[in-house]
Amino acid sequence: MTKTFFNSSRLERENRTVQKMIELYCHHHHRNGLKGCCSKCRELQDFAERRLSRCIYGPEKPVCAKCPVHCYKPAQREQIRIIMRWAGPRMLLHSPVLAIRHLLDERRPVPPWPGKKSRKKKEEYTP
Ligand SMILES: [Zn+2]
Repeated sequence: MTKTFFNSSRLERENRTVQKMIELYCHHHHRNGLKGCCSKCRELQDFAERRLSRCIYGPEKPVCAKCPVHCYKPAQREQIRIIMRWAGPRMLLHSPVLAIRHLLDERRPVPPWPGKKSRKKKEEYTP
């Protein structure tokens, strides 16, 4: 996993939450409890981290499930949706602090659209 610099503790926490969710899902579905994620899930982790570090909302971002900006490609979007639905309730057991803070974040209103100037292109990001 690449180390991305997050200029806000909130984004960094969101990143830790999503990384953990993917890890939980992978351990249960692909790795049979072995350490580390399979290559497909590591890819998804990197993808999620990059997307988060480029979120146009920055620290004010709504939780991804509520975000009006579709920054994930359809395939990844579907993958992450399945993972989050499965891992969401389990996060309460594994990482209660992260899970509860995420639940609190879910109650935040979606901030107004920050405008186009901070957004380079409308096209999908390709690494
Ligand atoms: Zn996996």
